[in-house]
Amino acid sequence: MVSISERTCSVCKTKKPKGKLVRWVIIEGKPKLDAKKILSGRGYYCCKKHKGNIDKFIKIKKIKK
Ligand SMILES: [Zn+2]
Repeated sequence: MVSISERTCSVCKTKKPKGKLVRWVIIEGKPKLDAKKILSGRGYYCCKKHKGNIDKFIKIKKIKK
């Protein structure tokens, strides 16, 4: 059995294999692309196509610090 770890996109709620998503970490209230998946903190997986929407997404979430 092949296990593919799936993550849900935080923006559009679509389930996708981890490799198809990019991880964003909120650092000091700002989204930072965690390309190497090494940053600690609250991470969000999103489709690559949402790159331009991350700021908006963060505001909707009302994430502070
Ligand atoms: Zn998405």
